Amino acid sequence: MNSAIKTPVYRILDSHSLVSLLDGLDAVRPQLGGRMEEWNVREVGDGNLNQVFIVEGPTGSVCVKQALPYVRAAGPSWPMPPERAFFERSYYQWVAPHVGAAVPRVHHYDPELFCIVMERLSPHIILRQGLIAGRRYPLVARDVGAFIARACFFTSDFGLPLERKMRGVAQFAGNTPLMRITVDLVFADPYVASPRNRHTSPQLDEIVADLRRDGPLKVAACRFGRKFLNEPQALLHGDLHSGSVMVTAEDSRVIDPEFAFFGPIGFDLGAFLGNLLLSWYSQPGHATAGDDRCAHQAWILDQADAFWQAFRETFLALWNSGAAAGDAFPPALFGAGEEAAALEAARSAFVDEMFADMLGYAACKMIRRILGFAHVLDFDGIADAGRRAQCESGALAMARLLLTQPRQFSAMRDVLDAVPRQAR
Ligand code: ADP
Ligand code: MG
Repeated sequence: MNSAIKTPVYRILDSHSLVSLLDGLDAVRPQLGGRMEEWNVREVGDGNLNQVFIVEGPTGSVCVKQALPYVRAAGPSWPMPPERAFFERSYYQWVAPHVGAAVPRVHHYDPELFCIVMERLSPHIILRQGLIAGRRYPLVARDVGAFIARACFFTSDFGLPLERKMRGVAQFAGNTPLMRITVDLVFADPYVASPRNRHTSPQLDEIVADLRRDGPLKVAACRFGRKFLNEPQALLHGDLHSGSVMVTAEDSRVIDPEFAFFGPIGFDLGAFLGNLLLSWYSQPGHATAGDDRCAHQAWILDQADAFWQAFRETFLALWNSGAAAGDAFPPALFGAGEEAAALEAARSAFVDEMFADMLGYAACKMIRRILGFAHVLDFDGIADAGRRAQCESGALAMARLLLTQPRQFSAMRDVLDAVPRQAR
């Protein structure tokens, strides 16, 4: 063999090679306990992009996520560089000091295999699964709202001096293949006929054709698409839907930040809110003789409100406190009295802007999950196509309203009032 030809180190892990890898890691071996022959490996990946393993040993377990060189949901015909694992790990490094245990602990990162060995969350389940099953998690909305506030505040120009912020912008600017997915799948494809799209057909055919002819709607979506590229406000998770949150009744954890980049804070807020709304609209599809899901719907709307309030309160409290170590709005510029009042008004205006962004991005996310490439189990799990289409058309109507009539929505109350009206 010609020794000048370098053997690529990257290989797709299977249970066998994974166990050997973990056995060589001093930081991981003791977590599992016993000998490698006693370790049990399960592949549990249910996402669109990567493979995820749970490895259990006699004394504990770990989770291993490896980025594949292609989009898992599409196969090798859709190549995708595995560097996204690096950005996922980097996001955890950036936010962990500010969000405590809200993200899983990373035990090890392998830069050649593009895999992360992390804390295995158990008995947590994916929030989306819980919402579909009609379960309630009293803390999750407030936890995720506060999480976004802290993760974003401390990585924004409020929390960081410009030298560190710009280093972050430069670092995460490398995550372009994942930004490309968002730009195409969220802000472009759903609004035109594309081979990657699908929708419940023929039931939604007319609604979809009509939406794709709606100039003002497309302009609004494009404005949010431009903002996505143009406003590096803070380090974002980039894909913070209900499938990226794992929960128990007492604990909420955020996972899967491989889409991380510096962008508008409303994008993370909108991902979570939009998916709560999708869940709301999907509930009739999961109704049974014993449970019409109306109470669950009411609970979901309360969560939307709790989510926003937690974000708002946490963000403003941080801004008001000494935590503001960044270059935006230097506190030393403002004295008491009228000056303090002017600052207060500016803070309110900034929060209002994030609210408006949140609604726009929520709507974009809702539309893409019904017309685009990646759908959600909330709707896909409704076997009856007619029933599914009815739920989906309610959600589409709401998304259109949010995008085309933004002035109707100046507070969360306006959103909550519009939801049931649209669904009737
Ligand atoms: P993808 O990026 O491919 O969507 P995810 O990070 O969402 O992958 O992980 C896929 C699935 O693996 C999750 O839905 C969850 O069920 C499981 N999972 C991921 N991370 C953990 C973890 N730290 N502990 C336990 N299960 C996990
Ligand atoms: Mg993912």
